[in-house]
Amino acid sequence: MAASEELPKTSTGKVLLTGGTGFIASHVLDYLLDHGFDVVVTARSDEKGQRIVKSVDQSVGKKVSYVVVEDIAQEGAFDKAVQSDPPFDFVIHTASPYQLHFDNPIADCLDPAVKGTTGILKSIQAFAPTVKRVVITSSSAAILSPPNHPKVYNESSWSDVTWDLAMNPQHTYRASKKFAEKAAWDYVTTSKPNFDLATINNTYTFGPVPRSLADASNLNTSNRRIFDLVKGNMREAIQPTAPVFTFVDVRDVALAHVRAMTVPEAGGKRFYVVGGFFSNPKLAGIIRANFPTLDGRLPVEGADDFPADHWEFDNSRSKEVLGIEYTGLEKSVVDTVESILRFEE
Ligand code: NDP
Repeated sequence: MAASEELPKTSTGKVLLTGGTGFIASHVLDYLLDHGFDVVVTARSDEKGQRIVKSVDQSVGKKVSYVVVEDIAQEGAFDKAVQSDPPFDFVIHTASPYQLHFDNPIADCLDPAVKGTTGILKSIQAFAPTVKRVVITSSSAAILSPPNHPKVYNESSWSDVTWDLAMNPQHTYRASKKFAEKAAWDYVTTSKPNFDLATINNTYTFGPVPRSLADASNLNTSNRRIFDLVKGNMREAIQPTAPVFTFVDVRDVALAHVRAMTVPEAGGKRFYVVGGFFSNPKLAGIIRANFPTLDGRLPVEGADDFPADHWEFDNSRSKEVLGIEYTGLEKSVVDTVESILRFEE
């Protein structure tokens, strides 16, 4: 990705990165280390933290350590984690539950998302006065209002999902992202901390699975459909693509986080980070063309379910302010499949 090469390799500063075991965080970590930042990741246990640290080659001067934060929904969960010597310059908050179903919408998803977000901002304000900027992984879910789509979405768009609707498990995740992001912007407006805020509103994200992944049952949600295609789980019947037909490559998302942290004009802004459109039949076609040996696991070629009247996205701010040059669907899918096959071995 050309844009990543423009970041100075000798950046200085110390970053707290939450949700270190996560798919997106694993790539943010790589970008931060590659460009010279010292990083402390949060993990829910020592075992997880040690696995992340071991996945990094520290012999080449990369500095990574971990701190345990068991549950981001707890009051004061980040009070200790934000304190460090030397102190932190930046915080990137990616940790939030991302699953398709939650038994208890409030306890399992809304609380960790919203209280986790306001909690980390409070802890930074109280205990980490050197932090200059906080970057939060929000989501396109905080932007989109299905089924009432406008012609074009951009950063001025906010999801119309309500708290009542959030109690329906089908809508819980997208509501958690809207209410967490709103809470973050409200916090900086009312509490006027020393740091400023930027949010990354990335869409459905594909890309290589984390090196530190323990087993396939922990595979992140958005790579699951590529995994299912590779494993033959859609051989008999391809799943419908809906509701999301936009994708972005995880390495573009990671770079967007790092740029949003370092580019002065990014402060106070949301960034709608979208690489293009996809559909499940298109994913299957790319896999078939690039991995002939997987042909027997793939569904037979059928009609594309991409809607003719699909809405458009405006990702110009992410290109202009953050300099993102988006990765195409084919490369994203090929690299994801290769990482899944390596994992299979
Ligand atoms: P993952 O499931 O891979 O990562 C989620 C991370 O959050 C994990 O580190 C997980 O820890 C941590 N976490 C979840 N709940 C808690 C909790 N209660 N206490 C402490 N840690 C917790 O997902 P992604 O990497 O895909 O997602 C990362 C962020 O990106 C999320 O905020 C998500 O909403 C957002 N996002 C993701 C998109 C995608 O398509 N992947 C699209 C748009 C936004 P553990 O591993 O221990 O469970």
